[in-house]
Amino acid sequence: MSHANPSLPTAPSYDYIIAGAGGAGLSLLHYLLASPILSNKQILVIDQSLHKTNDRTWCFWEIGDHEFESLVQHRWDTISIHAGSFSKELTTNPFSYKMIQGIDFYNYVITAAKLKPNVHWVEAAISNMAEIVSDNIHKEVLVKWEGGFAQGKKVFTSILPFQMNSLASATKYDSINQSANKLPFLWQHFKGRTVSFNQPVFNSKVARLMDFNVPQHGATAFMYLLPINEMQALVEYTLFSEQILEISIYDLVLNDYLAKHYPDFTYTIQHEEIGAIPMTQENFSNFKPPIYSIGALGMAIKASTGYAFQFIQQQCKNTVVQLEQGSPIQTNVHNTRHRFYDAVLLHVLFYHKMEGAEIFKRIFAKNKAATVFKFLSNTSTIFEDIQIMRSLPTPIFLPAAIAVLCRRA
Ligand SMILES: Cc1cc2nc3c(=O)[nH]c(=O)nc-3n(C[C@H](O)[C@H](O)[C@H](O)COP(=O)(O)OP(=O)(O)OC[C@H]3O[C@@H](n4cnc5c(N)ncnc54)[C@H](O)[C@@H]3O)c2cc1C
Repeated sequence: MSHANPSLPTAPSYDYIIAGAGGAGLSLLHYLLASPILSNKQILVIDQSLHKTNDRTWCFWEIGDHEFESLVQHRWDTISIHAGSFSKELTTNPFSYKMIQGIDFYNYVITAAKLKPNVHWVEAAISNMAEIVSDNIHKEVLVKWEGGFAQGKKVFTSILPFQMNSLASATKYDSINQSANKLPFLWQHFKGRTVSFNQPVFNSKVARLMDFNVPQHGATAFMYLLPINEMQALVEYTLFSEQILEISIYDLVLNDYLAKHYPDFTYTIQHEEIGAIPMTQENFSNFKPPIYSIGALGMAIKASTGYAFQFIQQQCKNTVVQLEQGSPIQTNVHNTRHRFYDAVLLHVLFYHKMEGAEIFKRIFAKNKAATVFKFLSNTSTIFEDIQIMRSLPTPIFLPAAIAVLCRRA
């Protein structure tokens, strides 16, 4: 951290600077503007690209309606799991599995915020953030970008050392950091396509959550197929592994899968998305107040699944409540007990103690979807946790649990 340079011209000052306007930055902005106490604060939003594209599809499960319910493109009340000869449909009641297009979310939040005169925007890549002492007493943060700088009483950053919607960026980060990694670290990497068939081929009521009958590439690999209607679906080849694949391999597997399952029909590709989501309990951030990490940088991603959207919502809502109350800001959204389960599952996957396909098959074979969703949302009771654990082999999971406990001791 550096201290104020008296020779610098005075920087414009804001109550809050949001560094990175993606999933977390815009969620925080949305909740700030909805707050009766904070909605008039001076807020600066900085992102390297405010011209958003549809770079991701967010799916999540929940009971009832959501803050962004009007943006939900499709919802499913039945999911299916497939592994070898195992094939099961499960009703998700009382949960629904929902889909939001990234661009709808970005447009919704940005359009509403652009109407507010107290929200200011800068499109630039941030190069530095450093704590300064503003008036000999109070700490503020100086945020710099090419051609400008500003000062904030509090800064909320979601800027990771890599981009999650670029396999090349993740690969580069991976090779730089491999030796530094101390905790298990897998990428959840995928390429997806929205395909449109010329005839009805899908059952739009069933989301194919995991179909493990695809090339595993020594990893945990599955196809994720979400029909939006009978002719259109998002289909994604997803892997949990240390190494990211050549882009042509995802395409090959997607082509083969669609040809095998729908041999008599033709389709067009309407949209593609790629992603590399870190599955780890490694902390990417060493910022201290008044700089707060949110989103993936703020460890909102669930390490064992890669799901983050709902945790980001929780994190941003909690942050706004804490700001309203003037209490210390605590961005941690995963409780200790569920973090421990995540660490154990990640350990088993990372050290190849059991195939991911077998783990998820057993969990879904023996439990209701609602119990699994609660477990993966960190809201399960101890009794439900035991139910899930009883689906899994003790000789594999007990040593993994002991290894995690020893690592923490
Ligand atoms: C393709 C994809 C699909 C996903 N699908 C799901 C899903 O279905 N369900 C789920 O729960 N989670 C999903 N995730 C995981 C997670 O929900 C998202 O990654 C989410 O966007 C994370 O929010 P974030 O704000 O931490 O990061 P981001 O949304 O990536 O936002 C970071 C922002 O920082 C900006 N930025 C980066 N560097 C700089 C810089 N130097 N200066 C200024 N700005 C900068 C970027 O432009 C970006 O806008 C998905 C992730 C990806 C990549």
